[in-house]
Amino acid sequence: MADAPLAIVSAMEQELRALLPLLQRPRTVQRAGRNFHLGELHGHAVVLALSGIGKVAAASTATLMLHSFQARALVFTGVAGGLGSGVNVGDVVVARHLLQHDLDVSPLFPRFVVPSSARSHFEADADLADALAAAAQRCLDGADALLGAATLNTFGIAQARLHRGLIVSGDRFVSSAAHSAELRALLPEALAVEMEGAAVAQVCADAGVPCAVVRCVSDRADDSAHVDFSRFVDAVASAYTAAIVNDWLQRSA
Ligand code: SAH
Repeated sequence: MADAPLAIVSAMEQELRALLPLLQRPRTVQRAGRNFHLGELHGHAVVLALSGIGKVAAASTATLMLHSFQARALVFTGVAGGLGSGVNVGDVVVARHLLQHDLDVSPLFPRFVVPSSARSHFEADADLADALAAAAQRCLDGADALLGAATLNTFGIAQARLHRGLIVSGDRFVSSAAHSAELRALLPEALAVEMEGAAVAQVCADAGVPCAVVRCVSDRADDSAHVDFSRFVDAVASAYTAAIVNDWLQRSA
């Protein structure tokens, strides 16, 4: 049997489009109305797919990755809104753990707890997250060369930084200062907010498969979160995603 692949899942089309050209010996198969792109990247068997936006889309894609393609690990790439102080547009956040900020079965269970798992926080795999964080740091160090000064200026990216810690997920694009302030008050340790990561982490935890989540900060989850969003994904996040995945797999044994 061929090696079990590493799954790389992206929320948005532009990110997948940046990864596909890196794939060697590509072949596409369909499952449950989705395209799964199999191939090799630096000698590693991989399978790439687009999840689409939101926890259901992400969880169903992750389930297919694990059970139709026997993925041995799963990495989710995407963008996120910065919540933590100092988590700015152009920074990268690598999750240590993830939580669903919109899950609330209180008073039966404490807020955010997933009843079937009896916990709120789902760990990312430490080794996988370390390797991705190292790759992300190298990409940030080379941001000038990767993106060019004009792009960095356009998006006001001065000194992009790497952050590691809690990422929170929910089925809502957080785009008001009031909503992000509410999240910060409830979950002061949250670095970033997005719409898929914790769902994928839960699916992977149930299956005992390592997972990691890497997010490029596209906005501050405030009233201007939607401004330039698509252009940011095209110009910055897609380039970071491809560079981080490429660097990580090139150096992985
Ligand atoms: N306008 C976009 C919609 C993006 S939804 C489109 O045309 O498709 C936001 C995506 O980016 C999700 O995948 C989510 O995980 C992430 N994201 C970025 N900023 C976010 C924020 N402030 N709140 C929630 N999710 C965010």
